[in-house]
Parts: sequence; structure tokens; C-alpha cells
Amino acid sequence: MKNIFFTPGPSELYYTAQEHIKQALKDQIPSISHRSKQFEAIFAETVQNLKTLLQIPDQFHILFTGSATEIWERMIQNGVEKHCFHYVNGAFSERFYQIGLELGKKATAYHAQEGSCAAIEAGQIPEDAELIAFTHNETSTGAAQPLEDIYAVRKAHPDKLIAVDAVSSLPYPDLDFQQVDSVFFSVQKGFGLPAGLGVWIVNEKFVEKSKKLQEKGIGIGSYHSLPSFLSKAMKNQTPETPNVLTLYLLAKVSGDMLQKGIAHIRKETEYKAALLYHTLENHTFLQPFVKEKKFQSKTVIVAETRQDSYSVISYLKNNQLIVGSGYGNYKPKHIRIANFPTHSKEQIEMLVDRINDLKNYTSA
Ligand SMILES: *Cc1c(COP(=O)(O)O)cnc(C)c1O
Repeated sequence: MKNIFFTPGPSELYYTAQEHIKQALKDQIPSISHRSKQFEAIFAETVQNLKTLLQIPDQFHILFTGSATEIWERMIQNGVEKHCFHYVNGAFSERFYQIGLELGKKATAYHAQEGSCAAIEAGQIPEDAELIAFTHNETSTGAAQPLEDIYAVRKAHPDKLIAVDAVSSLPYPDLDFQQVDSVFFSVQKGFGLPAGLGVWIVNEKFVEKSKKLQEKGIGIGSYHSLPSFLSKAMKNQTPETPNVLTLYLLAKVSGDMLQKGIAHIRKETEYKAALLYHTLENHTFLQPFVKEKKFQSKTVIVAETRQDSYSVISYLKNNQLIVGSGYGNYKPKHIRIANFPTHSKEQIEMLVDRINDLKNYTSA
């Protein structure tokens, strides 16, 4: 029997990915020129499918990078002259903030407790901050910031740029793009694809900012600056030789998700998340790490173990169910479970059954 990966990235491939990979090899997709009409058609199909799937308005551009980590850096280079402000509640949001500092900006942060999210209040965001960074789904702890919080910040700060790391939540959240300026993800999480492609969604207001910085002589990067990206994206091309195979797979998988229907995917995600949280809440030695229901992620469910997490992880592994360990210092204390669109109800039910076996198996 094959393993099922419930790890929060890389994760189980989307269930149609294997067929698309076979077809791509048959059609020699990895060998085509990125300046060919065939490539331009793949680029256009990917952009169109993502725009439809995520309901991205027309004034947004969709650009492709090597990873989400790269986008953290590009975001700050292109959107910040002096000061960026970050809501931080775990390792990923902390890294985004640190990159601001490493790039020599005056980055500041509001730190919320790990396993929770900031309670948004007036006065948290400095007057002179140009960009506000949210991590919608903190993958290290399983805490998700409610979208309403992001919209409230938009309302209070209409002139600042709002950037949202939605790497481990998309395509699940029904995000209103009109209320943000940039959103990004990488494909090895919710989209269930091989790693090595980041997707950067950015509006005109953001592009204008990067051009202003450039005019002022501030470094915004070279081949992956926004103006460079856009000069190629206009022609459905990329500045460099991109990961053509994964771009092709993203076109196909987002097309499959469209066929399935995003509303259906969202409903299923909520059902599976409810099942997982219910299981944890009724367990003898596991419990949700995130206590406040409103902050519990639907796509990365983190359990705290009263004994070490290693025995839980290895019991599940012996049953071909691969879950993630805790992140960083939480490694021995947590297990992390991805609940992505590829994970079927039946697979989650199977996982839940094995987690329930553990009540008798190793109860401390
Ligand atoms: C995985 C992850 C990243 C980094 O993605 P890469 O593709 O590894 O660069 C960034 N932010 C969050 C929230 C993540 O989960």
C-alpha cells in the first residue's frame, strides 16, 4: 500500500497530478522553449484558471517565482521604501519580518502568542508603515487570522499596501481581493504539486509603488522586479526560464479544481476540518494546539500531545499515514495534519480512525 502524505508541504500530490505529469512527458512539455507560442498558451491558461478559481479581479497581475520564500523578499523590495509592519505569530510570519530587516528596512512587528493570532486593535500599526504583512495561515502553529480582521485593517488604512501570505491556505479561503493589494502562495501545499513554483498576485497600486521606488533610485531587484516581471507577463512570458512543467501542472490542476467547483472544495475542507478537531477534542492525550475556535486553521490542523509526538507519528506511519511533526521547538510536542483539497473525506476518516485507535494503544 502507498503512503498518504498529510504533511503540510510538500504534501500528497493532487489526485489528478500523476496523469497530468504522464501527459506532460508524452507531450515533451519540459523541452519546449519558454519563448514559444506553446508556452505562452500554458502561461495564459494558468493565469485564466487561477483568476476564475480564486475570483481575482482584472486589475491584478499573476506572476511566477521560484518559491514563496522568494516572494517574501520581492514583496519588500518592490513595496517598501523604509518601513514595513508585520503581524507575527509563528515561524513563517517571523521569517517574513526578518527578511524585511535583512533587506535593511525599518521592519516592525506586532507579536501575538504562538497558537493564537493578533486581536486587531487601533494603534498597532505605525503611521509611517507603507506595507502591512499578514500571514493568513501560520503553518508552524495552525493558527489562521480571520479574513474579517484583514478587511478591518484595510478599512482603517486604505492608503497602505496589504500583503497576505496565503501559502498554506489557498485555494480554501474565499478572500475578497478588492480589500488587499497582494497575495501569494507556493504550489506544494494546497495545490498538491511538486515544489519549485511560487505564485505572486499583485495589483496596480502595488506596481505603481515599485515604479516610484525605482524612480527614486531604490533597489527593487533585477530580473524579478515588478516592472521586469510585467514587461514579460504582458506577452504571457517570464523573465527567466521558468519551471515550465510545474506551471503546466498548475494550469491543469486549477482547471480540475474549477471542474470540481470551489464551493464544493471549501465545503469539503470545512467538513474534514470539523472531523479532525472533533477527534482531537475528544481524545485522551491529544488536543488542538489552537484553543480559540475563531483562530483554528481549516487547512493545517495542529495537535498538542501530552506524551511525545514521536510515538504518534510512528504509529500512523506504520499505517502508511504520514503526518508532520511539530515545527522547530514544537517538534517533540506537536503533530501537524494538512487538510488540503487532495485529501478525500475517506482518507481523513481513515486517519481519524487510526488516531482514535491510539487512545487504547499508548494512553499515558
Ligand atoms: C511553506 C510556507 C512558506 C515558504 O514556502 P516555500 O515554497 O518553501 O518558499 C511561506 N509561508 C508559509 C505560511 C508557508 O507555509
